[in-house]
Amino acid sequence: MATELLYLDDFDVLTAQATVMQVSELDDGRLDVELDRTCFYPRGGGQDWDTGVIRSGGDAFTVDEVRLDENGVVHHLGAGAVSEGAGVVLEVDGERRSMNTRLHSAGHIVDLAVERLGLPWVPGKGAHYPHMSFVEYSGEVPGDIEETRQRIEREVAAVIATGSSNEIRFMPVSEMDAYCRHVPENIPTNKPARIVLYNETFGVPCGGTHVRDVADVGTLTITKIKSKKGVTKVSYAVEGLN
Ligand SMILES: [Zn+2]
Repeated sequence: MATELLYLDDFDVLTAQATVMQVSELDDGRLDVELDRTCFYPRGGGQDWDTGVIRSGGDAFTVDEVRLDENGVVHHLGAGAVSEGAGVVLEVDGERRSMNTRLHSAGHIVDLAVERLGLPWVPGKGAHYPHMSFVEYSGEVPGDIEETRQRIEREVAAVIATGSSNEIRFMPVSEMDAYCRHVPENIPTNKPARIVLYNETFGVPCGGTHVRDVADVGTLTITKIKSKKGVTKVSYAVEGLN
């Protein structure tokens, strides 16, 4: 049975009560814990997984990796004491979540800036990890690379300085075109479809966790733009995180 994904409705939920559905042992000796519901974010969409603790009475299970499978079941991998059928309390490491959320939202703000500047690029993959943060596009850099880097950086700074709260909207994939510049064909079907509206008008189909207000990202710099064979990679950094 698919795990209920609490982080889809609320970006900030870091603790919740749940029931342990199944515990199994992995080849590497770690345990795999399945729950009826979770606020742990599994790796996906370029955003890294949460870590934390699952507690029940005096038992504690340390979660060091979280994965979502093709059936929509979240697997909490780690070590410690946990029993099938137990009622548990979930505690996500808030500092790590906040870092991953800000790095992830920063990627969308870069994308928003690219749209505002009218750059003729089609969004591709992205990575929002501390050691590697970038968004990739199909398309060439029109003109000078350094000038383009500076233009994007200025636009990003303007978006963040103005600030704007983000809004969650669930909708069928067929309706997303009305809100989103680009709706990928490979939207995952193992979780409810959702967009997040940045700056009230810029919709992104995305199941990750996002800052409530774009101002929460902090200082965002465009560290490098590389363009090769029709693919342009825009790397960025968030002050204090990369
Ligand atoms: Zn996203």
